[in-house]
Amino acid sequence: MADKILSCKDCGTNFVFTEREQEFYKEKGFTNEPLRCPDCRRARKQQRNNRDNRTGARGGYRR
Ligand SMILES: [Zn+2]
Repeated sequence: MADKILSCKDCGTNFVFTEREQEFYKEKGFTNEPLRCPDCRRARKQQRNNRDNRTGARGGYRR
């Protein structure tokens, strides 16, 4: 396996999907490659957290 260059679905930036990350994905059983660069992934995660907070979801569980 080798590092792969993927392009982000959201911002079009090329980012590296490293060998190590590929291993990690495989371990988790993910069959898809990441669609977004790390920055966009982080941004989306934060957005989701913000939304959860606004709808009044209490902590203590995820999903
Ligand atoms: Zn991006």
